[in-house]
Amino acid sequence: MKQLKLNNGQMIPQLGLGVFKVQDANDLRRSVTDALKSGYRHFDTAAIYHNEAWLGEALAESGIKREELFITSKVWNSHTTYEDTITAFHESLKKLQTDYLDLYLIHWPSEGYNEKWRAMESLYAEGLIKSIGVSNFEKPHIEKLLTTAKVKPAIDQVETHPYFQQKKLHDYLKSLDIAHEAWGPLGQGKGHVLEDPTLAKIADAHNKSIAQIILRWHLQRDIVVIPKSIHTERIAQNIDVFDFTLTDEEMTLISMIDKNQRGSGDPNDTEWLKESLNRN
Ligand code: NAD
Repeated sequence: MKQLKLNNGQMIPQLGLGVFKVQDANDLRRSVTDALKSGYRHFDTAAIYHNEAWLGEALAESGIKREELFITSKVWNSHTTYEDTITAFHESLKKLQTDYLDLYLIHWPSEGYNEKWRAMESLYAEGLIKSIGVSNFEKPHIEKLLTTAKVKPAIDQVETHPYFQQKKLHDYLKSLDIAHEAWGPLGQGKGHVLEDPTLAKIADAHNKSIAQIILRWHLQRDIVVIPKSIHTERIAQNIDVFDFTLTDEEMTLISMIDKNQRGSGDPNDTEWLKESLNRN
């Protein structure tokens, strides 16, 4: 598995399994077992997914050594203070049955994120988190964070797929040496991106599926991807993307199908961010 070096020297497997919306313990356990068999070692969850405990169980039962795994979780919006963030982190750690996280992210740029970051910096200094980062942060959010941050985020996890390529944000993150991680890398199976004719043509040329072409395109942009599936065959397919390369011409063709079309969750929707403070 290809690894990327983060700005603090830590390595991250460039492809992992996302587990958003997996709300059934058996589905989660089975998909994690399938993923481990296919070679996945990187898993992306969040407190708000309410499945950290199942992921923790599945990983513990696998017998794979902790140091071979890369586990990401995220602090939810309802935790707005320094103390709350520390408490939330320890709850996640307990559910995940581990004594450290590889990556912990601020889930959304909601109220209090500078304070949350201060708490994450403390946990990072204690060695309880190997790398700290943000999610759904756009340029103004990062600029505001950096006014008080002592540690620069290692990563920004944002919606990114061929119909929402985030070219500007990608360049901004690159200029700061913050890694770009894509959530919804396959467009969440919505918006017809998995039926796009340009992608279909490229898929035929490589004898791969459209999903594999999309994942390969992300990888060649130096983006970390965490596609989600609970189906054995798709889980295997999604990691089978390291034996071919898209040409420069194909990369250019894909760059031209961008529609700047967000699928869900707008970090600029301040009403939604406010409401989310009351959700758990
Ligand atoms: P995704 O783009 O990974 O799409 C998943 C969907 O694509 C599946 O449900 C399935 O319908 C389809 N799919 C998967 N593999 C396929 C294949 N090989 N062929 C055809 N269809 C396929 O969307 P996602 O789950 O929303 O995003 C991935 C991960 O990102 C999540 O599981 C979660 O861990 C993370 N995430 C983070 C945030 C955030 O705010 N930070 C938001 C959403 C998701």
